Amino acid sequence: MHHFAYRRGVSQANVLHAEQVDLCALAAEVGTPFYCYSTATFERHLDVFADAFAARPGTLVCYSIKANSNLGVLATLARRGAGMDVVSEGEIRRALAVGVPGERIAFSGVGKTKDEMAFALDAGIFAFNVESEPELRALSQVASAMGKTARIAFRVNPDVDAGTHHKISTGKAENKFGIAFELAPSLYRQATQLPGIVPSGIHMHIGSQITDLTPFRNAFALLKELVETLRSSGLRIEFVNLGGGLGIPYRSDEPAPPLPADYARLVNEAMGDLNVRLLFEPGRMIAGNAGILVSRVLYVKTAPEKTFTIVDAAMNDLIRPTLYEAYHQILPVIEPGPDTESRFTDVVGPVCETGDYLALARPLPALNAGDLIAVMTAGAYGAVQASQYNSRLLVPEVLVSGEQYCVTRPRPSYESMLAAERVPDWFQG
Ligand SMILES: *Cc1c(COP(=O)(O)O)cnc(C)c1O
Repeated sequence: MHHFAYRRGVSQANVLHAEQVDLCALAAEVGTPFYCYSTATFERHLDVFADAFAARPGTLVCYSIKANSNLGVLATLARRGAGMDVVSEGEIRRALAVGVPGERIAFSGVGKTKDEMAFALDAGIFAFNVESEPELRALSQVASAMGKTARIAFRVNPDVDAGTHHKISTGKAENKFGIAFELAPSLYRQATQLPGIVPSGIHMHIGSQITDLTPFRNAFALLKELVETLRSSGLRIEFVNLGGGLGIPYRSDEPAPPLPADYARLVNEAMGDLNVRLLFEPGRMIAGNAGILVSRVLYVKTAPEKTFTIVDAAMNDLIRPTLYEAYHQILPVIEPGPDTESRFTDVVGPVCETGDYLALARPLPALNAGDLIAVMTAGAYGAVQASQYNSRLLVPEVLVSGEQYCVTRPRPSYESMLAAERVPDWFQG
């Protein structure tokens, strides 16, 4: 469910709106390309997820910042009670900047630096998700030197196939994430001996865009066993962090992924009577459908083999199609009439790479130079992965709420892009 729909626009035509905001009008104000986010959609997704676990008091939903870290978005979710899952000092700073209390922050990642650990300890975060023995030792050194204690969960790797794209699978033995299940009991015991460390939970995150509950079911069953094993050897497990990963619908011609309620039912079955506090780290499920990328057609190029629709957004703005072979629905911002014919076209950007495309061989109604398109379901892993490749300016982000909008990240100027770099002295004089 999202709040992007065709409605009667400022002109006569039916125009795609973000909540009450006409996207043709917004494009005229902001220029293209730009990301547009819907507050109501973000709030709804967070509520639906949190409500699914309302029966388990103490459950903490930590939105995974890396999916969409725009401060306007984070402020929206923070005000609604979300905790945050972070993977860097930068993300901790973002969470703190929007008023998320330290005790609602969980810190993941295989390569936390000692500086980042110290920063997180100062912020009083809820827990570190520790991914290796050397990291555990480093954290112990940092915490004890500061006279603090770090609450930790080991991230375990259940070696299950999440059935997702290989670049976003994280729970197989060959992936860099987590520690092997077999090693967990001895590492826990070690951790109880280390100064500055309080082992108190287990963490698991097996991948992203998981559209079938089976991998979750398998992984959660293993996790429950592990909790019981650890407890039976006298270790205290107070919380279990089940990570994120729930998939979302990107295309209408495929079966819809499980709903948060289905996922919650599975979690309750799998965790049974285990007396633990639950944490979750949903990212894509909260942000994906809450954002779109709006772009303008520059040229339509008809080659003997096919038609290319060349637009002003490119792989540097949205890398998912080329990085993950991801499908994004594309809608003309002005609604086509009911009997408009579609024809196949590649929707491509201006970047000098063959991999620069938003859609390949896509049936779309005839588009002309100047027309606007919306790339749907671009709210997660979109703007956060944008770059300046080809010296293109970072794409702006706009947050809509009802009839209002705020440019939460303005388009930089070319001057500021150049001013960020230096020519060495040795070229002067
Ligand atoms: C990326 C990530 C998430 C979020 O995954 P989604 O598929 O976006 O829900 C959660 N936890 C960790 C540790 C992650 O790295």
